[in-house]
Amino acid sequence: MGMDDDAREYHRQDPPGKIEIATTKPTNTQRDLSLAYSPGVAAPCLDIADEPGDAFQYTAKGNLVGVVSNGSAVLGLGDIGAQASKPVMEGKGVLFKRFADIDVFDIELDLDTADEIVDAVAPMEPTFGGINLEDIKSPECFEIERRLGEQMDIPVFHDDQHGTAIISGAALLNACEIADKELEDLNIVFSGAGASAIATARFYLSLGATKSNITMCDSSGIITTSRSDEINEFKQEFARDVPEGSLADAVAGADVFVGLSVGGIVSQEMVQSMNDNPIIFAMANPDPEITYDDAKSARDDDVIMATGRSDYPNMVNNVLGFPFIFRGALDVRATDINEEMKRAAAMALAELARQDVPDAVVKAYGDQPLQFGPDYVIPKPLDPRVLFEVAPAVAQAAVDSGVARTEIDIESYTETLEA
Ligand code: NAP
Ligand code: MG
Repeated sequence: MGMDDDAREYHRQDPPGKIEIATTKPTNTQRDLSLAYSPGVAAPCLDIADEPGDAFQYTAKGNLVGVVSNGSAVLGLGDIGAQASKPVMEGKGVLFKRFADIDVFDIELDLDTADEIVDAVAPMEPTFGGINLEDIKSPECFEIERRLGEQMDIPVFHDDQHGTAIISGAALLNACEIADKELEDLNIVFSGAGASAIATARFYLSLGATKSNITMCDSSGIITTSRSDEINEFKQEFARDVPEGSLADAVAGADVFVGLSVGGIVSQEMVQSMNDNPIIFAMANPDPEITYDDAKSARDDDVIMATGRSDYPNMVNNVLGFPFIFRGALDVRATDINEEMKRAAAMALAELARQDVPDAVVKAYGDQPLQFGPDYVIPKPLDPRVLFEVAPAVAQAAVDSGVARTEIDIESYTETLEA
């Protein structure tokens, strides 16, 4: 319980919470205040009224992300409601700031339905450069993100879906390289068919996986076209015309296991039933579908294993993605975080893991050997190079795919990030 009490104390210390607003301009003299507020403020207001894009040069909009939740699927805590989700949303703000110097307003909405949430968030477009939807339960999260993305001219990104997809996607690209397998040939089994699993399966297709090679399981087993229970349209998308069966049936002979479900449901026998050089991403938190040690010891050293945990190699941690993806998107005033930008982020992460790791990063991780291989397929979150690699890649992809509102010279942009 030491951790719980430490966390209470951490949050309670005066001032309560983890964030505050700071001013960025002089406020010492009467004249400063007249510039900051009335009457001086009228000039930038009228410029923006004439040219809405001027909001990016006169206000904090371009570096401000709304972290929006209704608290309906919070971490591993479930539907704890909007108010109780506030420490998590403030925490997300801390990570945005710490990793990419992005400011956040956390917005906790006491609302349930997709209609209500879309109606509440869409009119916030003037305030923000982007919206990070957070911890909103499936299946509503899919509709909310889609409709807001259509209605808003700023990026709308549901991190629980795409963060996992992008980072595990980077790990998958590298695992293929190490296992000498082609992504398009891989038989991939998903355990879980919720927010993160659906988005991850879609993203793997975008990276080159083959749909007919993907088998998805939920709590009732393989999702087939003939299953008699009612399955939502998102599960339908991955329903296969195969006999009904269990997760164990699906896993036999598979190349890849992607766990986004619940802890402890994969046995060593199931791992042994997989194809040579199996790739296992057991990402249920806090307890993975199978532990790193159990998966490793089930096989003769040919398994590539990732989890969501920091105490084992290959931690799939969303913080490797959202700060840098938003950094790149905001810096070109992107109207969207599209598929091209997500792919660019995954490829930049994958490429970075293939490079030598600076000594300072190795030291920060207790001198474990960090060298491209089965136990190092994705970079470490505290590696400062992630910012310099991912943000420019995302910005460039935004420009190339036509969703950037500013031109950018990527080389000098990268230099400013490094400065
Ligand atoms: P979710 O939307 O609630 O989906 C959970 C899915 O797991 C549901 O489809 C559920 O099946 C399925 N499930 C439950 N028990 C199962 C069982 N015994 N066998 C197979 N499937 C089972 O949750 P989510 O947001 O996608 O997250 C899922 C898990 O992934 C959580 O543990 C979360 O912490 C973890 N996660 C990890 C990361 C990371 O490591 N970076 C990121 C995101 C999520 P039904 O549809 O039948 O109910
Ligand atoms: Mg989350």
